[in-house]
Amino acid sequence: MTEVENLEFRRLNSELEENFIPIAALNQFSYCPHRCWRMFCAGEFEENQYTIEGTSLHDRVHAMGDGNREDLYQVRAIWLRSQKYGLIGKSDLIEEVDGRVYPVEYKRSHKGEFENDALQVCAQALCLEEMLGKSIAEGFVYYAQSHQRVVVDLNEELRKETIEMIAVVRSLFETGTMPLPVYSARCKGCSLYSKCLPQAAKKLVNYREV
Ligand code: SF4
Repeated sequence: MTEVENLEFRRLNSELEENFIPIAALNQFSYCPHRCWRMFCAGEFEENQYTIEGTSLHDRVHAMGDGNREDLYQVRAIWLRSQKYGLIGKSDLIEEVDGRVYPVEYKRSHKGEFENDALQVCAQALCLEEMLGKSIAEGFVYYAQSHQRVVVDLNEELRKETIEMIAVVRSLFETGTMPLPVYSARCKGCSLYSKCLPQAAKKLVNYREV
């Protein structure tokens, strides 16, 4: 049995464990700390075109089934978990080629739109390394719009950044302290815009009675 085949048994262990940080929360925090707070602390979520397209892409990828072609073995929708970092999340695709195992994350967008993609792949790799007891040097992001598979170098700098992000998100979960909304270009694509109203919030902060 290959290492990736062995991972299939982890399908049984798909319960979201208490006090574990969802890998998706790291992604959301990197996008916008206020959005992360709204989703994971306040329990708010709204769909828009981008979230629906993203969910639809992941559903399609997860439903494609596992594959075994010559020296390539693929498993999809595996739950990954790290006791060391208190992390949990569902992978899109794990591949094994010539004894090398690595995660592949699917994105609806194109490379460069959001820099949090590498961080998400790194978090998946940290889980996989602990589950398999071996080092993983690289992962990949597949961008559906451009049909590009981009390598993610799991170097020390990215690992440090990911581990620091886990600590920051854990602190957010533990304190529940709301980071203030900060209006940026990202707000235009944010499904929580109508709840957050970041420009109104900014005006209120600046408002002074005379
Ligand atoms: S509208 Fe902007 S500030 Fe508000 S949650 Fe979305 S990205 Fe963050």
